[in-house]
Amino acid sequence: MNKKTVKDVNVKGKTVLVRVDFNVPIKDGVITDATRIEGAVPTIRYLSNNGARVVLCSHLGRPKGEFNPKYTLKPAAEKLSEYLGKKVGFAADVIGAEAKAAKAALKDGDIVLLENLRFHKEEEANDKDFCKALSEGIDMYVNDAFGTAHRAHASTAGVSQYGFVKTAVAGFLIEKELAVMGGALETPKRPFVAILGGAKVSDKIGVINNLLEKVDALIIGGAMAYTFMKAQGRSVGSSLCENDKIELAAELIKKAEIKKVKFLLPVDNKIADAFANDANQKIAEGNIPDGWQGLDIGPKSVKLFSDAIKDAKTVIWNGPMGVFEFENFAAGTKAVAEALSKTDAVTIIGGGDSAAAVTQLGYAGKMTHISTGGGASLEFLEGLELPGVACLNDK
Ligand code: AMP
Repeated sequence: MNKKTVKDVNVKGKTVLVRVDFNVPIKDGVITDATRIEGAVPTIRYLSNNGARVVLCSHLGRPKGEFNPKYTLKPAAEKLSEYLGKKVGFAADVIGAEAKAAKAALKDGDIVLLENLRFHKEEEANDKDFCKALSEGIDMYVNDAFGTAHRAHASTAGVSQYGFVKTAVAGFLIEKELAVMGGALETPKRPFVAILGGAKVSDKIGVINNLLEKVDALIIGGAMAYTFMKAQGRSVGSSLCENDKIELAAELIKKAEIKKVKFLLPVDNKIADAFANDANQKIAEGNIPDGWQGLDIGPKSVKLFSDAIKDAKTVIWNGPMGVFEFENFAAGTKAVAEALSKTDAVTIIGGGDSAAAVTQLGYAGKMTHISTGGGASLEFLEGLELPGVACLNDK
């Protein structure tokens, strides 16, 4: 990575603003999954142990620019205290009197978490005055929130972009995300296979385009596959299909041919006569008849995709193979997760639904890397520069 990290700067005695991703699910004031908090612990512990005065900031949910007790970050401060085994202070505002006092009172090694950034609409608007206020009393900025690194918000980019904080470096989480995914894209062990799924081709055109320059095989499942199947002249019944993207899908298939990238689509599908878990269902090979829709890949496709995974040395996966929220149509997604759990290849899970599937099935420990950012990892795989990384100091 060509960006400085916390290890490249002297943090002792410095007041350091650290953007973390504490956007955790909370039910009745209790955090139901603290993975994201845990993910930020190495950077926070390093800073604290090395004498920094740590000011943490994050967003939580979508409070729409107003204070809403439902979205307070207070439980996150308590959870972090448990992980670190030391007190983490909490300021009940972001740029107000409490935050100012809390920053000023910090001693070397102390940690305070500010209240939810998105209680201010200026955060997402990347408002200059808000960036200035957030930077008050701050000597150094650390971004460790990969999940929001694709956004140019005040706390993810603005404070450094506008020059309010001159020293801006990456935390360990961002460093790891970029090292693993960047490594796979630039110097993959081959064969390099990418698996894409999910609802829409239109969301992933950039990713497909970029991956076709890098991979040896591209596997497409989920509803996305039906637009490609139609582009090949196959009928897809009433499956989700983007008719205005069929031409583009044909061009992408052509590009794969030219680049000699193996392009794998489902050869069979689990189809239903309605969009429901308990709809009538059967397996259709090839075409999907009228009145039926594909909601998952079929067993032959599972075998085809699993074999490709078995032969690979690097695999990147983003997006489910079917409507995995319906138990009866989750088999394809589960099978891909299982195939990934069994290979010795470098396995990278691109956040979102695929990360959730892998974790729920208990395979998380078997993967090389599970990205903490769905949107951010997609933009990275698309080859775009992430604003939350671009704003950091070069090495
Ligand atoms: P995305 O956000 O684009 O990754 O899409 C994820 C969503 O795609 C999930 O909610 C899935 O239920 C949905 N999906 C996957 N396959 C299908 C399908 N065959 N038909 C309808 N929706 C699907």
